[in-house]
Amino acid sequence: MGHLTGFIDIQRENPAEQHPLERINHWQEYQKPLTEEAIKLQASRCMDCGTPFCQIGSIIQSNTSGCPLYNLIPEWNELAYQGKWFEAYQRLAKTNNFPEFTSRACPAPCEGSCTAGLPGQPVAIKNIEKAIIDRAFQEGWVKVKHPVKKTSKRVAIIGSGPAGLTAADDLNQHGHRVTVYEKDDRFGGLLMYGIPNMKIDKKYVERRIELLSKEGIVFKGNMNIGVDISLKDLKKEYDAVLICTGADKPRELPIDGRQLKGIYPAMEYLKESTKHYLNKQYSPSISAKGKKVIVIGGGDTGADCVATAIRQGCKSVIQFGKHGKLPMTRSEANPWPENPQIFTLDYAYEEAQSKFGMDPRQYFIQTKAFIGDEDGNVKSLETTSLRDDQSESRYWDADLVLIAIGFEGVESSLFPAIEKKQNKISANDVDFKTNHDGIYAAGDARRGQSLIVWAMQEGKKAAKEINDYLSKLQ
Ligand SMILES: Cc1cc2nc3c(=O)[nH]c(=O)nc-3n(C[C@H](O)[C@H](O)[C@H](O)COP(=O)(O)OP(=O)(O)OC[C@H]3O[C@@H](n4cnc5c(N)ncnc54)[C@H](O)[C@@H]3O)c2cc1C
Ligand code: SF4
Repeated sequence: MGHLTGFIDIQRENPAEQHPLERINHWQEYQKPLTEEAIKLQASRCMDCGTPFCQIGSIIQSNTSGCPLYNLIPEWNELAYQGKWFEAYQRLAKTNNFPEFTSRACPAPCEGSCTAGLPGQPVAIKNIEKAIIDRAFQEGWVKVKHPVKKTSKRVAIIGSGPAGLTAADDLNQHGHRVTVYEKDDRFGGLLMYGIPNMKIDKKYVERRIELLSKEGIVFKGNMNIGVDISLKDLKKEYDAVLICTGADKPRELPIDGRQLKGIYPAMEYLKESTKHYLNKQYSPSISAKGKKVIVIGGGDTGADCVATAIRQGCKSVIQFGKHGKLPMTRSEANPWPENPQIFTLDYAYEEAQSKFGMDPRQYFIQTKAFIGDEDGNVKSLETTSLRDDQSESRYWDADLVLIAIGFEGVESSLFPAIEKKQNKISANDVDFKTNHDGIYAAGDARRGQSLIVWAMQEGKKAAKEINDYLSKLQ
């Protein structure tokens, strides 16, 4: 701990951001990195606590507290403070295969449990992580790393999201021959086709896939396992298989009028948008241009829909949530080191506020029915309030509705021979084994809709289990 009173002397500083009215004209990342000196000062705010809660990675009261990758945060904070950037990168890379993704899109539960955050502002851990990894790429420290030995064991990974990529990376470094199968045309899972470009620029996903390919991992796209080749036949070709197919079955809203035109699951919309962003020849089947948009669902996927609709030039945008507005400060029922459940103005809401003069969020809303015009297009929504004091119906004009109320898990038709429970693949988080010998499962397909860091943690742990299994095979 180089600067003993850093957490008292220095205030937290966040990176400057491009003004919302400017950034909604493009799809690029909009944060301006802090200077090297500013990052050093921020790193010096770390207290190097005896028990660093920032790296505990646990679930408390259904929320993540601390880093699920167990990143060695106080250690790289100290190295960053000393300007030892290469050493800081080495420490970071020990636990985190892809800091360029987490440092951009992780909700940073590490900061929610940072001790400096108890009386004041937490250390800006995520920004320090980003400074370390961005510098590592700029300096050329992130190099193609060939495994030191090669084994003859073959592993197939189904799904190229953060869980699959992390497992592929670790198993490849153990020397096994790894092939990643992906049903989409591009690799990265939700890093590519879920999270919008403003949060994770797709060039960073492509850069990582290129590195992993050069290191020896084989990527096969447009391969829908279970359709193009059965799981059973795939298993015959490989010594082990890891299922990392994500939890992509959207939760439905089976109310009157759902069949009307102009109502889509959020993921279909976000995917079409990114496909068009990456290939201007591709004409998306859904666009918010000139439309009155309503997003149903108060979570982060809904926020990404709001930001996307604004960039596409929507006429208006409103987001319905079932819950009330969060408090401005922690409630007594949500003490440190739990992740704080407090009101924040996310990027999408700031943009809506600047563009349309209001926060698009509407609270305590229950959608009762979609109402259509004579051509079968949605034209309005009927809602009621979940607050006891307001029971009358309310009507909202809309010509594009996006349903963002979460994901149920995996499709029940996926891999019929593999046991599932409540739409999740049955495997525990210790050995990650399914009911079939040599077939494992990790990430959202196993735990349900989650976060990049949890998917990466599971990919890492499953890779260790598979490596142990392979080392016992003849
Ligand atoms: C819109 C949106 C925004 C999000 N934003 C954030 C965020 O900002 N921060 C955060 O931490 N988390 C975020 N999340 C959650 C995070 O993206 C996921 O928890 C994480 O990507 C799960 O990783 P995974 O590897 O388990 O699965 P996924 O990323 O879902 O990847 C699964 C892959 O498997 C492929 N696949 C499926 N079935 C088959 C098959 N049969 N054969 C071959 N391939 C198959 C899919 O095409 C997909 O590419 C967001 C999620 C969504 C939907
Ligand atoms: S991965 Fe997420 S939780 Fe872990 S240190 Fe980075 S921002 Fe924090």
